[in-house]
Amino acid sequence: MTTKRLYYDDAFEREFAAEVLSCEPASAAALGTAVASGAAAPGRAAELEKIARSPAAAASGTAASGGPAALRSRTPSGGLAASGDPAALPRAGSAPVETPAGPPAEELWRVKLDRTAFYPSSGGQPHDTGQLGDARVVDVLDEDDEVIHVVEKPVAIGSVKGIIDWGRRFDHMQQHTGQHVLSAVFNSKFSLPTISFHLGADVCTIDVRGKEPTQEILDGAMAAANDVVYADRTVKVKYGSADELAAAGVRKAVERSGTLRAIEIESLELQPCGGTHLQRTGQIGMIFVRGVSRIRQDWRVEFACGRRAEHLAREDFATLKAVAQRLNCSPQGAVSAAERVVAERDAHFKSARASIQKLAEIDARASLQEVEVGEDGLRVIAKLFEVDPVEYVQAFAREVAQAENTVALLVRIESAQIFFSRHPTAKKDMNALLAEALERVPGKGGGSRDSARGRLADPQRAQEFLAFAVSRLRPEL
Ligand SMILES: [Zn+2]
Repeated sequence: MTTKRLYYDDAFEREFAAEVLSCEPASAAALGTAVASGAAAPGRAAELEKIARSPAAAASGTAASGGPAALRSRTPSGGLAASGDPAALPRAGSAPVETPAGPPAEELWRVKLDRTAFYPSSGGQPHDTGQLGDARVVDVLDEDDEVIHVVEKPVAIGSVKGIIDWGRRFDHMQQHTGQHVLSAVFNSKFSLPTISFHLGADVCTIDVRGKEPTQEILDGAMAAANDVVYADRTVKVKYGSADELAAAGVRKAVERSGTLRAIEIESLELQPCGGTHLQRTGQIGMIFVRGVSRIRQDWRVEFACGRRAEHLAREDFATLKAVAQRLNCSPQGAVSAAERVVAERDAHFKSARASIQKLAEIDARASLQEVEVGEDGLRVIAKLFEVDPVEYVQAFAREVAQAENTVALLVRIESAQIFFSRHPTAKKDMNALLAEALERVPGKGGGSRDSARGRLADPQRAQEFLAFAVSRLRPEL
C-alpha cells in the first residue's frame, strides 16, 4: 500500500506516530524471498517481486541483482539527479545516496509504515536518519509508492514512534532550499538553467548549462540569491495537475499525470519538486558560492548554505589566520606578504644558482690544473660527488668540457646520477662509454657523443662504475 508521506505537507515534523505494517530481514528482501512477519505477511512475496522488478529497482542497477549489498547501494553514488525534474514526486533510483557506513545488510531490517516523516533519497537530496522506536534508521528507500525504512534491528508490528535526526534534515533543507534560490537566480539573471543537483556530505553542486559562469556572474548570482534570503520570502507547497501547475506559472513541461507537488518561493519561482523545504528563505542562512569547474558540456557550481557556509567561512578564516601567523602579518596583509616571500625566494634562488655556477667553474678550473694530460693526449677528470647540488655537478661537467682533449666522468652519489661530458677534440664517444659501463654496473641512461646522462641502480656501486669507465677510456692503463 502507499505510504503516506507526512513531509509533503509539513517538512518540520520531527516526531510522528505510525503503524508498523511489516518488518523483514533486508537480506531476504534483497534476495527476493519473503519472510513472514506478523499480520502483514500474506502477499509479501508477490509484493517483493514487484519491487524487485519495478523500473525504480531496475534503474538502481543493483537491486535486481540481489545479494546483501543490493539494498545499501541501490543508487549510483556518482549519479546526479535533476532537482527541478518535471517528475514532481520523488522517485527511487534517481539520486545519489550518502549512506553512512553501518552493519552489513544481513543484519538490517526493512520496515514499512502506514505513514512516515522520513524522507527517502530522491531528487538529489539524501535520505533522513533517525529512530523507529529503539531501532536506528540507517537508510530510507523510495520504492514505487512505498517508503522503506532500513533499520538495524527488528521493529514489532503495531504502533511505533518515529524520530528524525533533525540536524541532518535541517542541513539538507538548508542546502536544498538554497539550491532552489540559486538555480532560479542563475536561470533568470544569467540564462544558466540547472541540469542537475548533488547534495554531498561536504559539498553541494549544481550543474548549469550555457556560457561560462565568470567570477562576475558567480558573484552576481551569489549576491542576488542572498538578497532573496534577506527578503525572507515564504516557501509554500502547492498541489495540482500538470495543467493547473502550468497555468500557475511552472515553466517546465510536466509529463506526469495525477496530482503533482510544486514548491513556490514568493516572487521567485514555482517549481515541481518532491523534496523537503524550509518555510521561509531567511532560514537558508547565507548562500556561499565557492567556485566553478567544467564538467563535460556543463559547468559545475559548488556552493554551501546556512550552517555549512558558516563552518566553511570559519575554516577558511582559521586557515587565513594560520598563514598570516607564519608570514608574521595580519590576515589582510597575507596576500602581499605571500607575494613578497615568493619574490624573495625567487631572488634567492637566482643568486644561489649564480653562486653555485661560479663555484663549479672555479672548482672545475682547479681540477683541470691538478690533472695532467696523459700520454695519449687525453685529460680525464673522474670524480664522485656526495650531496653537492645537481646544478653544481652539471656546471662542473660543462666547464671541464670547455677544455680541449678533456673528458669529465662524474657521479653524484646521493641521487646515483651520472654525468659524462667531453670536449669535441677528445675523440671518445660518451654515449658508447656510458652504455658499456652500464653493462658492467646496472643502471640506465643515454646521450650523444659529447654528453651522456644516466642513473645507477645502486649508488653504492658508484666507485666501481667510475673505475670501470676510466679503465675503458684508457684500456692501456
Ligand atoms: Zn525542492
